[in-house]
Amino acid sequence: MIERLLIANRGEIAVRVARTAKRMGVHVIAVYSDTDAAAMHVAVADEAVRIGPDAAAESYLNIDAVIAAARETRADAIHPGYGFLSENAEFADACGAAGIRLVGPSAAAMRAMGDKAASKDVMAKADVPLMPGYHGADQDPAILAAKAAEIGFPVLIKASAGGGGRGMRIVESAGGFDEALAAAQREARGAFGNDRVLIEKYLTTPRHVEVQVFGDDHGNVVHLFERDCSLQRRYQKVVEEAPAPGMRDERRAEIGAAAVAAAKAIDYSGAGTVEFIVDATTDGANGPFYFMEMNTRLQVEHPVTEFITGLDLVEWQLRVANGETLPLGQSDISLNGHAIEARLYAEDPTRDFLPAPGHVVAFEAPEMSRAVRIDTGVRTGDDIAVSYDPMIAKVIAHGADRDSAIAALDRLLAELVCVGPVTNQAFLRRAIRHPAFMAGAIDTGFIGRHAGALMPRRDGVPNGAITAVCARIFDSRRQSAAARADARGEPNSPWAASDSWRVNLRNGETLIFRDGEAEVSVIAFHDAGQVVLEAPDGRAIGVGNEHGGWRAYGQGNIFFAAADGTQIHLERVVPVEEASERAGASGGLTAPMPGKVVRVMVSAGDKVSRGQTLMVLEAMKMEHAITAPGDGQVAAVFFAEDDQVAEGAELLQLEPVED
Ligand code: ADP
Ligand code: ADP
Ligand code: MG
Repeated sequence: MIERLLIANRGEIAVRVARTAKRMGVHVIAVYSDTDAAAMHVAVADEAVRIGPDAAAESYLNIDAVIAAARETRADAIHPGYGFLSENAEFADACGAAGIRLVGPSAAAMRAMGDKAASKDVMAKADVPLMPGYHGADQDPAILAAKAAEIGFPVLIKASAGGGGRGMRIVESAGGFDEALAAAQREARGAFGNDRVLIEKYLTTPRHVEVQVFGDDHGNVVHLFERDCSLQRRYQKVVEEAPAPGMRDERRAEIGAAAVAAAKAIDYSGAGTVEFIVDATTDGANGPFYFMEMNTRLQVEHPVTEFITGLDLVEWQLRVANGETLPLGQSDISLNGHAIEARLYAEDPTRDFLPAPGHVVAFEAPEMSRAVRIDTGVRTGDDIAVSYDPMIAKVIAHGADRDSAIAALDRLLAELVCVGPVTNQAFLRRAIRHPAFMAGAIDTGFIGRHAGALMPRRDGVPNGAITAVCARIFDSRRQSAAARADARGEPNSPWAASDSWRVNLRNGETLIFRDGEAEVSVIAFHDAGQVVLEAPDGRAIGVGNEHGGWRAYGQGNIFFAAADGTQIHLERVVPVEEASERAGASGGLTAPMPGKVVRVMVSAGDKVSRGQTLMVLEAMKMEHAITAPGDGQVAAVFFAEDDQVAEGAELLQLEPVED
């Protein structure tokens, strides 16, 4: 029995594997790189071991470090998750040599499937249909060009050792072949250390349909139905669902049987996925299907299969690794309803899905239920690290049929708050609500073809978003003032009052925000405890706490408003600060970092001149002067000596001098 499981991965999959292991009473050991020392996957584990610096090659891909961590913690098994070492046969060998069970197939099965060209030889022998193409060992460019012509253009050149959508080139005609070949080889050498390629007929309207298989060490192999992963960008999956829309039962049985045959051909044990490409030109999911590759590990999108089968795939993995027979036979496994998953990435759809790592200011998941699930390794306050995959979460929903599953996923995406990094959240909602998607008219070209309609867009900043952000600013001001008054034992001080304590309230207070390139101004009138917001032209913007569903996050000058799965980033522009920027003065009125107030040199009502020191903070054993960015009058001082302040906390409030 596995009693102590080391999870050689990070992020959502490490958290997800830990959940099942703990439920089964297994002691969970996490590993981490420096940047992940306080990550969620470490927090959920029973113990954790540092395995190296941030670079994956020196930590999560470092076989010696992972094995040493397992030895040190007396782990009896290792779960590799996906990515990283999960399909690495040398790692499987190293586990064997160390007497540690690897939760996964044998090294031989990994070797048989690790190379796309070699795996096609095995599949041909097992009568699994292959895409017309060439996967021979002869890599002479002239031979490859001749094979491409024989197959007929367009063709796809693939890196034999490839993965993650890299090392692929489409060639439209004979003229472009040599250049595309050189590029594919270069990329393959760089990414996989091996420049062998294969050539396939390029399908122009394909669907990606894959089958989840499971084997045990006693010769049993079953399939857990298919998943359709046709919504892709850069050959990488974005939305996955099960069952495949429009697939008829007979075809489901055929493709399932082909996948089982593929797994049996290599005595497969554990969880695996056989990926097929379907020519969807005339009959959608029921068109001819061809073997593409086999992934010898748990797949990112396994939760949709868990929803439609009601099974826990990680539990099955651990049981198989324990030497048990599969919990169910093929005829005991049934398909129930429809499930769909969307991958929430820190990436910018409007910039060709460029990764956008950053600080997660807020991550708030709605209530989970039997029909909705969010798998994540990220919490409020965490960073999406530049060193790793920018996936933030998998958002998954189940319904009685496809329409209700899509509706449930859409609601979940609308309610989920994830602000800070730029994400594809709004893009995902547009994708799954697109009429063509709702009708099941999908293929791998969907995102490219509908890009225009899927890109998030808006005109200006919604009033509710500004109102929510302003309310947040005034709330934090009030709290600071009240805290100060309390600390000084003057709870009735006018500075603690929650209403019209401001000096120039009759004129209103102008707040300016930067929304990307644009600037938005609002005038706030503080009227008997109520804040009324107007645009400079007098148009009403909002009142007090009525935000129309928008929620505000952030502090200092950086704010986010979120509603309906959309986030708006608003940067507050403080005019005196701008003036000082132009004048070259330094220092703002918010704490530049967390620290302690060591001196307060002004009080409310004082007139100050530009450059004058107002307050001194101590942080990281150094003193920082907070200086007046311009001439003005101190309206309020929010902290006293010895107070601790958070980064971005508003320290004082300055106003232009009134004549
Ligand atoms: P699939 O499982 O459907 O093949 P991918 O190919 O996108 O989906 O998943 C594998 C990829 O996930 C790896 O190539 C790697 O870049 C990335 N990856 C590996 N580990 C993690 C992790 N813990 N969190 C997020 N992404 C990861
Ligand atoms: P990877 O190892 O990078 O996942 P795959 O062989 O699984 O590589 O292919 C990834 C994606 O590329 C597929 O999901 C599909 O969108 C596209 N693709 C692969 N082969 C073909 C083909 N012959 N014709 C058209 N598209 C293809
Ligand atoms: Mg693939």
